[in-house]
Amino acid sequence: MSHVLFGTSQITEDGQLEIAGCLASDLAKEYGTPLFIYDVAKMKEMARGFKQTFDTFGTPHKVMYASKAFSCKAIYQLLKNEGLGFDVVSSGEIFTALAAGIEPSMLEFHGNNKTPAELEYAIDSAVGTIVIDNFNELDIVSRLVKVKNKIQTILLRVTPGVDAHTHDYILTGQEDSKFGFDVKSGQAAEALVKALADNQLIVAGIHCHIGSQIFDTSGFTAATEQMMSLLVDWRHQYDYVADVLNLGGGFGVRYTKEDTPLEPRMYVEKMIKEVKRLSKATDYPIPEIWIEPGRSIVAEAGTTLYTVGSRKEVANVRTFVAVDGGMGDNIRPALYQAKYTGLLADRAYDNPTETVTIVGKYCESGDRLIEDIELPHANTGDIFAMLTTGAYGYSMANHYNRNPKPAVVFVEDGQSQLVLRRETWADLILLDNDLK
Ligand SMILES: *Cc1c(COP(=O)(O)O)cnc(C)c1O
Repeated sequence: MSHVLFGTSQITEDGQLEIAGCLASDLAKEYGTPLFIYDVAKMKEMARGFKQTFDTFGTPHKVMYASKAFSCKAIYQLLKNEGLGFDVVSSGEIFTALAAGIEPSMLEFHGNNKTPAELEYAIDSAVGTIVIDNFNELDIVSRLVKVKNKIQTILLRVTPGVDAHTHDYILTGQEDSKFGFDVKSGQAAEALVKALADNQLIVAGIHCHIGSQIFDTSGFTAATEQMMSLLVDWRHQYDYVADVLNLGGGFGVRYTKEDTPLEPRMYVEKMIKEVKRLSKATDYPIPEIWIEPGRSIVAEAGTTLYTVGSRKEVANVRTFVAVDGGMGDNIRPALYQAKYTGLLADRAYDNPTETVTIVGKYCESGDRLIEDIELPHANTGDIFAMLTTGAYGYSMANHYNRNPKPAVVFVEDGQSQLVLRRETWADLILLDNDLK
């Protein structure tokens, strides 16, 4: 079997996929397909794992869930109860978080091109922290706090010259990034001087985010070193001491057996030890450490159920098995060849008899969800469960071909709860005006 099950997911004796005590096939019947299912216990476990590691070391911290990975009122509410704050990247995410009852002080606002209107909304809403990305934004925020007579806490986003993807990191690779102030050219220092000169801005510290789906700690270690050395340098040059060191997110998850991420706490432990070691060596007050896990909180908790429709067998080439969703609810395979696995939810123990490609229903040849997966013969009406779909699936969902977005349910202790209802045809024409 090529799949890995997480959290409360298991296969019953008669070969049925069960999540949090709910049979996948029952959920498909009750809510229809395509359907996103989130294992609440798994998300809590991930959130607690990060927090407990900091607590074990007695390290002041904030865990800010990067809500672009999956954003809806229920996820903000769930993770708020776990003591997390939130990284939001648009006025829409701010609006959703506030509608969910999140304290604005628990929000940090990210993005490389926040609009003046979004910045005004954030300041008016008393969003706790704005992560300043560039000079244009610094000017806008300076102007807004003056006009509104407000004090705003900010972080400066810098590109420390560490670019980590999957297994390795490259030094300096990140200079070619649209995000943040470049350190090497002196941009970051210039931004600091400018921000410090504005007495309505509180420069709480600095931020970096070195990549996503990272599997080892070396990139984070390198970034921590670069960031701490920048802070030590700034203390020397500008008499500036930071309260916050935000090291971003990017902790890897297991989509397929080939992925080998570390336990989340390993990344955090390493960061804490590095920060402490470097603080001691340079006699720098240990800053509060912030992290921004997105994918690692929600990816493995998510499963998508689809109903199998048509099959197309091309002799000696490929067998296509089509499902009732696709790139509209999960664009990652089409967008960046993301790999997934899955299983037939009702026949998990049946021996694989064929190698097939799971395709969607969208009018694009690239609408392939999984290439070359070994499955028992999939018949029309079977439920196919695609695993690890909790991150950047629903949040990237779209209306291509005017397909409604799927429903999302949370499951826990044998109970299911609809947290995002399925869109209707009527929803699809909500924005339409008739031609005059
Ligand atoms: C996307 C992003 C994250 C979250 O990344 P994950 O890989 O989902 O953990 C955190 N911080 C920033 C600034 C980001 O852009």
